[in-house]
Amino acid sequence: MSVFRKIILIFLVVVLYGCEIKRPESIRYGIDICNFCKMTIVDPKWGAEIITDKGKVLKFDVVECMISYYYTSIDTNKVHSMYTIDFTSPGNFIYAKQAKYIRTLQFPSPMGLNVISLKSFEDTVKLGLKNEYETLDWWEVVEKVKDEILQ
Ligand SMILES: [Zn+2]
Repeated sequence: MSVFRKIILIFLVVVLYGCEIKRPESIRYGIDICNFCKMTIVDPKWGAEIITDKGKVLKFDVVECMISYYYTSIDTNKVHSMYTIDFTSPGNFIYAKQAKYIRTLQFPSPMGLNVISLKSFEDTVKLGLKNEYETLDWWEVVEKVKDEILQ
């Protein structure tokens, strides 16, 4: 193998490794602290993460804390991706902008926005909702956080 090919190979390994580490990391419930409200993350049905362009993982107890942090505490150009926990499948992350959100008082969230994340609205049936609820997309959740938490 020529030196040139070796350099290309090393370059590819570095680039692929760099991509590899930009993934959500399991939240250690009862141990990890929310980067926005500084409370311990305790409920596995909720949780959210920001991954920076350097692969650093910032953890949050709920999606409203992640959105609040995004708009107040980080250079948004350095955010690589954002994830939320699937309410019906604790421990599993959903790409936050593609997640579907349900707002209901039946599942009050730790920070009071009362929004849960799902992979699809079809999963709403799994919730056994008795109360009234509202369906939201990512940008509608962002608007609620701006209006009700950040003002
Ligand atoms: Zn929080």
